[in-house]
Amino acid sequence: MSLQQKICPACGHPNEMFAEACKNCGQVFGVPVPHWAHYYRPGVGAPMAPIATQTDGFAIASLILGIFSIASLCICLGFVGIPFGILGIIFGYLGLKKGLQRGLAITGLVLSIVGLTFDVGYTVVLAIGVANQPTTTYSVGN
Ligand SMILES: [Zn+2]
Repeated sequence: MSLQQKICPACGHPNEMFAEACKNCGQVFGVPVPHWAHYYRPGVGAPMAPIATQTDGFAIASLILGIFSIASLCICLGFVGIPFGILGIIFGYLGLKKGLQRGLAITGLVLSIVGLTFDVGYTVVLAIGVANQPTTTYSVGN
């Protein structure tokens, strides 16, 4: 049920909201449409021009994972965010090494570290809380 659609800036073809490129003409979303895009269709004879974007997948992944690691706290599942936080730190570090989008990589790294810290803290508190539950609550036979 995808009501939201992404309209291709090059040819106007409606695509799925999360599509990365136009199904009709191959235009990659998120990058400016070159002036020749209307005349050359990728894969129809014309060689693919190297896309000189400043987009860094590592930095973006780090940012998203960092947000996930923090967001997991909001749904009371801090421990779920721990792997996100760890991955976010790794991707943020890789993004920083690549240096394409330093600001984004640093943001992702910081969010991941903050998220991971809170996730671990929350999980520890939760574990202590569960451990201190009265034994009558959970009747595990012994
Ligand atoms: Zn298109």
